[in-house]
Amino acid sequence: MPKARETVLEIDLNALAHNYDYLRSKTDKDVKLMAVVKAFGYGSDVAGIARKLVELGVDYFAVAYTDEGIALRQAGIETPILVLHPQSVNFEAIIENCLEPSLYSKFVLEEFIETAERQNQKNYPVHIKFNTGLNRLGFSEKETQVVRDLLKSTEALKAASFFSHLAASEDWREREFTLLQIHTFRNIALKLYDELGYRPMLHICNTSGVINYPRAHFDMVRTGIGLYGFGNDEPIDQKLRPIATLKTIISQIHHMKKGETLGYNRAFKAKKVTKTATLPLGHADGINRQYGNSRAGVIINGNYAPIIGNVCMDMIMVDITGIDCEEGDEVIVFGGPQHATEFAAKGNTISYELITGISQRVKRVLVSN
Ligand SMILES: *Cc1c(COP(=O)(O)O)cnc(C)c1O
Repeated sequence: MPKARETVLEIDLNALAHNYDYLRSKTDKDVKLMAVVKAFGYGSDVAGIARKLVELGVDYFAVAYTDEGIALRQAGIETPILVLHPQSVNFEAIIENCLEPSLYSKFVLEEFIETAERQNQKNYPVHIKFNTGLNRLGFSEKETQVVRDLLKSTEALKAASFFSHLAASEDWREREFTLLQIHTFRNIALKLYDELGYRPMLHICNTSGVINYPRAHFDMVRTGIGLYGFGNDEPIDQKLRPIATLKTIISQIHHMKKGETLGYNRAFKAKKVTKTATLPLGHADGINRQYGNSRAGVIINGNYAPIIGNVCMDMIMVDITGIDCEEGDEVIVFGGPQHATEFAAKGNTISYELITGISQRVKRVLVSN
């Protein structure tokens, strides 16, 4: 592995394959796997990982917004793509790019029917979203008649699936609530199956649902965070491999005398002779100010070096007193020896926010370790 010579986010495609195989091993063979690749593949490299997932045999992709789906099509991806949160202004672009919308309310369902009819579509695949307790998006159980009537009113589209989303699949204290969500979802689906005369696929599980609710996999599971190597749970984390490693280098080393201060607002004051390293990444790269003032640190030649002072826009400074290192040496921010979940916790956040927050100016590098 060549050493980093600038700030890079390394994406390990072999780790992705490992995580994919692990998640596949948790479902029956006939359950489809939908890879959730919204937000640039959870901050990785969406085209790179989508191509790898196609090679691995993924059945479906999901993105949040229409433009993310269009980007996948432009990258040459031909697999079906569910758009989880489309806006009606994008419905023509959805059809143009063969994307499949989630329709979650009477308003968007009616709007999509109108667009599909105007374009003389027949059986255009759509996905009907039900709200079973998250209270974010979706038709309620009381609206099943509305859904049935609207679906029966047109030939322009056809439900490819019914789905819902769990609120707390990673939290065992909420098991009863989760089971109630699954029960409600099953009831809605059965009622609609009877009345529609055909059977769209059903799916409700995200990554933690795949792990914790094996009897609720239905026809497909939607996994995001697990593919990127996080299990929302220590024992599952052990089975997975984070695909991303954020690396940088030492730009410059300074020797501070006792009493000198460092960085904006002089937030760090040397209590003794201190050796510091300046690194080329900051809050504009996704290392937010929460990590500063010794709350988190980086790894240099196997040693922990705390981030001192305030995080700047394009730089952080770390305390390297007693660490054998020189300008140009590689630095690991997270990944490898420092698990991203651990790093995120020091900034009062979770892996999802940390990895999706690494900004687009950090170069992505695909590797196969
Ligand atoms: C983001 C998202 C997922 C993926 O969840 P993970 O916890 O990352 O596996 C699944 N379904 C919906 C509706 C989502 O918005």
